[in-house]
Amino acid sequence: ERLDRALSDLEALRKQNDELREIFKDITVNNFSDDQKLAIENFQKRLTKVEIPFRNRFQSWNNKEEPNIEYELLRRRIYSNTNEFWYYVRSSLKDIQKKIDNPEILENIEQVLSLGAEHKRSLLHDINHLAEVDGYEEWRKKESNDLSNLVQKRFKFLQNPQDCTIAKKLVCSLNKGCGYGCQLHHAVYCFMVAYGTKRTLILKSKGWRYHKGGWEEIFKPISDTCTTPEGESVATWPAHSETQVINLPIIDSLSPRLPFLPLAIPEDLAPRLTRLHGDPIVWWVGQILKYLLRPQEKTADLIQDVINKLGYKRPIVGVHIRRTDKVGTEAAFHKLEEYMIEVDEFYKQLELKQKVDVRRIYLASDDPKVLQEAKTKYPEYEVICDPKISKTAAVSTRYSDTSLFGIIYDIHMLALSDFLVCTFSSQVCRIAYEVMQNYYPDASSRYKSLDDIYYYGGQNPHNMVAVLPHEPKKIGEMQIKVGDLLGVAGNHWNGFSKGRNLRTNQNGLYPTFKVKDKIETAKFPTYSEIYV
Ligand code: GDP
Repeated sequence: ERLDRALSDLEALRKQNDELREIFKDITVNNFSDDQKLAIENFQKRLTKVEIPFRNRFQSWNNKEEPNIEYELLRRRIYSNTNEFWYYVRSSLKDIQKKIDNPEILENIEQVLSLGAEHKRSLLHDINHLAEVDGYEEWRKKESNDLSNLVQKRFKFLQNPQDCTIAKKLVCSLNKGCGYGCQLHHAVYCFMVAYGTKRTLILKSKGWRYHKGGWEEIFKPISDTCTTPEGESVATWPAHSETQVINLPIIDSLSPRLPFLPLAIPEDLAPRLTRLHGDPIVWWVGQILKYLLRPQEKTADLIQDVINKLGYKRPIVGVHIRRTDKVGTEAAFHKLEEYMIEVDEFYKQLELKQKVDVRRIYLASDDPKVLQEAKTKYPEYEVICDPKISKTAAVSTRYSDTSLFGIIYDIHMLALSDFLVCTFSSQVCRIAYEVMQNYYPDASSRYKSLDDIYYYGGQNPHNMVAVLPHEPKKIGEMQIKVGDLLGVAGNHWNGFSKGRNLRTNQNGLYPTFKVKDKIETAKFPTYSEIYV
């Protein structure tokens, strides 16, 4: 009702504005003094100025082709909480199963689990379908394109200053002592700081551990006009805002820290992004990767050759299985079967929507044995993979040209898939998920991570806001009140997440559905000079 009233008030104002403009339009200024003339001209100008943004805004409020933000947030919340509900029920029933040995009750529980899973798939399918029939699909595609074009244009502007000799620069050395995914995330972090401080990013990559010739032989240079790290004054971060060239350390040793670090998104984009996308920071990282990873022709050709050789068709689920040096040090081991349960779930749900002739996966791993294992154990699946690529990913040959091509290819294919199954503890998997956002208006729920929730190495605390109260019922749970901020540590995928309540300073478990993400924003520059 209030909205209706506001809209009719606005309509009245708009009419008045039109009338005033009409009156002033025909006034000839000859009979007035210079001061009066100036005042009238200014007033005429202001009337036209008011009118343009006013009209646009009025039209978009009135536009039935755009969803309102509450609707989009709710739709996504129901989707993720349907999953959470199922994690809770499934895991609780499995716990009960372990405690009893009555065959009849065990059988009963099996039946509940089986029909319960069907029920869950049907719900998720319906919620997906809702987004297809609510009339906003076109808007989502357009908004996604518009936003992408907007930031890509800004990136190009930032990276191609008119005069490189006087441009402010931020220098970042690609060769962080870690893998390709980790180095890409390092470059993305540098780009965020560059964008936030309005400095052209210079990426130093000669002698790159993956390709001695450097970045530009594989990907397009990140600037056409400004690529040298020279300048009148050079200093290491934080330096002075007047310093022309600033060298940026890795995120882990950045001091003082900056507001532009993940999980913050640019404040000026936040209203549009939170409506469009279920995980805006992933979209933001994806956009920077889109800019950075524009392949040189040779790289694009190589990728196409392998696609032609291995074949690639939809539907396809991307599966990444990280083994070798990661397992036991930074992440736990997960059996192939655990990944395939999730793949099976994806296909069972898809089969509610369409006939699936061939169940297909794209399988990437740094352990070639798992590729063979998949082919042997899952003959009903078409397993697309390249053992040669997997072999070069071994730690001993990892930092080489052929290995580089392999990981570029694997990430490309994983990102292209309909759904991703992997472990977010691996940066390979997170990069694929981020790049995947470039292929859909919102691909934030097209994944299943077997371990971590999404994070960005070196990020500022990831906070959730409680939207429902909770009283602890079991050991390990904690109290939450509506509005509490919780620093989240992880999701146990059993209905509960673990975190710290910033109000009580308590660490503990809480039901995941009782919180929502707190979207962090920072005052990045808005690059308004592009539009004048
Ligand atoms: P993380 O260690 O898994 O977090 O990811 P990084 O990318 O930082 O380092 C792992 C490196 O191992 C990758 O960059 C690749 O060089 C290699 N690697 C791991 N998994 C794969 C894979 O599935 N395919 C290929 N080609 N290489 C992989």
